[in-house]
Amino acid sequence: MSLSERVFKNFSHDIGIDLGTANTLVYVSGKGIVINEPSVVALNTRTKQILAIGNDAKSMVGRTPAHIVAIRPLVDGVISDFEITEQMLKYFFTKVQQGNLNFFSRPQVVVGIPSGGTDVERRAVQDAALNAGARAAFLIEEPMAAAIGSRLPVQDPSGSMIVDIGGGTTEIAVISLGGVVVSRSIRVAGDEMNESIIQYAREEFNLLLGERTAEEVKIKIGSAYRQKEGAQAVMRGRDMVTGLPKEVVVTDEQIREALSRSVRTIVNTVKEAVEETPPELVADIMSRGITLAGGGSLLRGLDLLVAKETLIPVHVTDDPLTAVVRGTGVVLEDLENLREVLIQTEVEKIPR
Ligand code: ADP
Ligand code: MG
Repeated sequence: MSLSERVFKNFSHDIGIDLGTANTLVYVSGKGIVINEPSVVALNTRTKQILAIGNDAKSMVGRTPAHIVAIRPLVDGVISDFEITEQMLKYFFTKVQQGNLNFFSRPQVVVGIPSGGTDVERRAVQDAALNAGARAAFLIEEPMAAAIGSRLPVQDPSGSMIVDIGGGTTEIAVISLGGVVVSRSIRVAGDEMNESIIQYAREEFNLLLGERTAEEVKIKIGSAYRQKEGAQAVMRGRDMVTGLPKEVVVTDEQIREALSRSVRTIVNTVKEAVEETPPELVADIMSRGITLAGGGSLLRGLDLLVAKETLIPVHVTDDPLTAVVRGTGVVLEDLENLREVLIQTEVEKIPR
């Protein structure tokens, strides 16, 4: 370790970030997960100024005057607005460093990004992190980070399969020897499940639901597979005929029906990925099982359905919502040994 490296190690806390479409999490070396907030930014469209980020911004959704918008810059897993992403990162860096970044406190950063992005998108994230004050920025594909966060032996000559179901995207990867052998990314995940519930309520009951209500119903009684005990939930919204408030009681079975298309798409994509996997690696996955991560993996019975359809055992990783950021943390703590798992486009900026 060079002198300057030792100096940096003493003064700066390195940072791991999960730039999720629904939630952004930040891990700081030596401290753990310090930020876990929705990936939402409230923006003044006149001045282009950011007014709030995270929880504060989310609570503004639907309550803002015309010149203020609350946006999700990462929706669908692509960075749709570079400047906003940069400002968001800057905000998180300063928040975790508790003060302005100076020469010595500039962190090394590992950022988890959706797989399947273009080189341009990847460079944009890396530049955003560097412009936001990082002294070095490394990128890792989110499924790889989720696998590492789930303690799968990604560097072994043995196949591991991870399915990360987030808000905007579901990402599937088969990993061996530190690299991704088979990968699939689809824009069907938690958000689309919410949409399906909204559509179901409209078509079946002429009931107009808000996105948050739909998400609550999904989390409360949603399932992918028949449950031992039935459940009910109240959906509150607006009657599309009278324009007045209306309540409808729905059963888990109805919600399962509403979610079935999204669930089917996810399951079929997992099956395709298995079919594309070389036989030796399939044998490894058979014995190790498929690991599910991401908030969407908490949908009841999804593990059972995937197991039944693929004929492979399935487990949901511990604390699936934090698997990616914990993975970036593991990489940060051991950059030397884990360099091969990073996306190889890394540019390190020489400290100014
Ligand atoms: P991202 O990585 O895209 O930010 P996350 O892994 O944070 O996404 O997962 C967010 C998604 O998980 C949301 O769509 C949310 O509704 C969904 N989710 C969270 N908890 C549950 C649950 N208990 N059941 C079903 N879906 C859930
Ligand atoms: Mg994610």
